[in-house]
Amino acid sequence: MVQAGSPELIRVSATGAAGIDGEWLDRKLEFFRGRDGQAWFALAGVDVDAPIGPSVLKITIHDAKDGTRALTRTIRIHAAHYPTSSLTVAPEFVQPGPEALKQIAADQLLTDKAYASSASKPLWTGNFRPPVSSPQSERFGTRRIFNGTLASNHKGLDFRAAPGTPVRASNSGVVVLAHPLYYAGNCVIIDHGLGLFTLSMHLSKITVHEGQRVASGDRLGLSGATGRVTGPHLHWAVRWQGAYLDPAKLLQLDLSEAR
Ligand SMILES: [Zn+2]
Repeated sequence: MVQAGSPELIRVSATGAAGIDGEWLDRKLEFFRGRDGQAWFALAGVDVDAPIGPSVLKITIHDAKDGTRALTRTIRIHAAHYPTSSLTVAPEFVQPGPEALKQIAADQLLTDKAYASSASKPLWTGNFRPPVSSPQSERFGTRRIFNGTLASNHKGLDFRAAPGTPVRASNSGVVVLAHPLYYAGNCVIIDHGLGLFTLSMHLSKITVHEGQRVASGDRLGLSGATGRVTGPHLHWAVRWQGAYLDPAKLLQLDLSEAR
């Protein structure tokens, strides 16, 4: 069942295709050839705020002679039922002052730049693994009320990691941001290719640099409590083509057939 906020592995059987692309929910799909050289795959997803109901998945198969074949499928998006929680943070994180607003704007430029280019092929191999072995504390999608007023969706998965716990790359990729940010604290963003990124936030220490290639399990830094937090934890997020997806569901996806 396809739910709002879910990552999805899309498989197309098209022996002899020279390339496949597509579109779903206004986002571009980029396919790559799977392990066996026959099937093609795209790792995609549904934004948490996507409209519930039928959606149209469009796929274009290109053959070696410049011919194309179009396929469409209707896919029903189901609602995911996410809980609500209330929490209290320092007031400057709910009503940032002028200095903070300047930093938030500068952070936006840095993150936009980090997301602006993604590798043109998948950099990941096999299944994604959890960034820490600590228990999960708050799931993706929870509707949160900060200090009784500010409401937002929790766009990641929290792990109750003790300060100083090594935080590891969930799959291979390239570090595209390793920098302190106002809300995220010390933050590491990894590009896994074709518009897929994972983010690790609130670190006490970053031990990688921008441009560095990492393999699954490589240490990115140590967990901590920097940025907008109520206590030490790791906030881990998955972003695909601008949409935040449920990290717990990415960890459950079996990707071994694809690469
Ligand atoms: Zn979080």
